[in-house]
Amino acid sequence: MEEKEHVRLWNECLKIIADNIPSVSFDRWFMPIVPLSWENKKLTVSVPSYFYAEYLDEHYCNLLKSTLTRVLGSDSQLSYSLFDSTVECKSGHVIPVKENAERADVYNPFPQTPNRRAIEPQLNPHYTFDTFVEGDCNKLARSAGMKIAENPGKNTFNPIFIYGGSGLGKTHLAQAIGWATLEKHPEMRVLYVDSNRFLSQYQNAVVHNRTNDFIAFYQMIDLLIVDDIQYFAGKGGTQNVFFQIFNHLQLNGKQIILIADQSPKLLQGLDDRMLTRFRWGLNAEIELPSSETRKEILKSKVRTDGLSIPDNVLDYIAEHVSDSVRELEGVINSLLAQSTLTDAEINMDLVRRVVSSLVSAPERTVTVASIQEAVCNYYGLEPHMLQSNSRKREVVQARQIAMFLSRKYTKVSLTSIGEQIGNRDHATVLYAVKSIQNLVEVDKEVQYSVEAIESSLK
Ligand code: ADP
Ligand code: MG
Repeated sequence: MEEKEHVRLWNECLKIIADNIPSVSFDRWFMPIVPLSWENKKLTVSVPSYFYAEYLDEHYCNLLKSTLTRVLGSDSQLSYSLFDSTVECKSGHVIPVKENAERADVYNPFPQTPNRRAIEPQLNPHYTFDTFVEGDCNKLARSAGMKIAENPGKNTFNPIFIYGGSGLGKTHLAQAIGWATLEKHPEMRVLYVDSNRFLSQYQNAVVHNRTNDFIAFYQMIDLLIVDDIQYFAGKGGTQNVFFQIFNHLQLNGKQIILIADQSPKLLQGLDDRMLTRFRWGLNAEIELPSSETRKEILKSKVRTDGLSIPDNVLDYIAEHVSDSVRELEGVINSLLAQSTLTDAEINMDLVRRVVSSLVSAPERTVTVASIQEAVCNYYGLEPHMLQSNSRKREVVQARQIAMFLSRKYTKVSLTSIGEQIGNRDHATVLYAVKSIQNLVEVDKEVQYSVEAIESSLK
């Protein structure tokens, strides 16, 4: 029964907390917390994010302190855990989980938590399939992931290589596969590791002469998730040991899940042998969610967190915030924070303010081509004139201004600017840039023209 003790104690705390704060705040800030363990007078609970831990600490410090003292005694401690790491919070009563002594039987490079599995999967309790919304952007990866969990290692998706931009749900999905695997195969050793963590563990093992132990540990895993492997780029030693582990696991029918910000084709700085093997399995991209999916994600978040946010507010967020799911969550968090702090209702007015402060208008990208277009518009020239060999005075000047502005507003090299403007060499471009620079100083008309074209670019 001892494992259940942390749940019982935390429920006791919740009762007191619920009596002391408005139910909206309680649902928002306390319901999502998951109790993890109660050991040596220390209660460890899992929270969804750093933002969350900081917010709790800042706004509910006194309440938490007095509640803990009542339920757990005066010398108790509370620790927030973000799956594998812990946050030390300002109020002082919160401390990170202490590293436990390693088990005698296996060398384990991860800090051990008591009363748990011999190998902690290092999964975030919030990243499950239940909370992962399906959309066209993630359909393939998600359904492959569910099949993997049925039969890890013994499927055609081994390895599965999940890739895509930041904040699109790669980590969430991979961890959901981990949880689903554990649910169906509780005996399996599932492990999530971020590539940076793997790197530092490896360096540590080298320093302490434990490289073999390190490799042996990873070779024991049944389902290994390695996140953000683009950070292995240029790290030859780490890639070598990872390659050994990878081969061993694959030969033994163990499942491997790899995550990166690029497809294996575009990843740079990684060993070709490895990239070839990554392509053997399934390469699944996670793309930007459509506005429909964004809406679904927002609705699901509101549902699971028990929030009350009007539909038109959610629609507004889904329409205006499109860069990533992480950004959507950021808007929700800041809406909640603002409304709790200022006691304001969550309405269109508030959401407009929050969105405009968080999401800057997309900058128009200025390219050599768009500059040429603007210059031609200004001088009323046919688009191809700048490319031509015409030596007419006004064409020459327009061409030089296009080169000058390309230098000023793009990061393109002189050579490439020359290539794009009528295939001229880099000396010609340099000469043009200098000429216009000088002319702008002394010739009002040129100065005026340049400024007018510049403003049409923005
Ligand atoms: P990535 O690893 O691609 O950078 P994450 O997995 O960390 O992105 O996702 C960022 C945040 O967005 C997380 O809080 C995650 O729970 C949430 N998220 C991403 N995709 C989805 C989805 N399809 N459904 C629900 N939440 C999602
Ligand atoms: Mg990630």
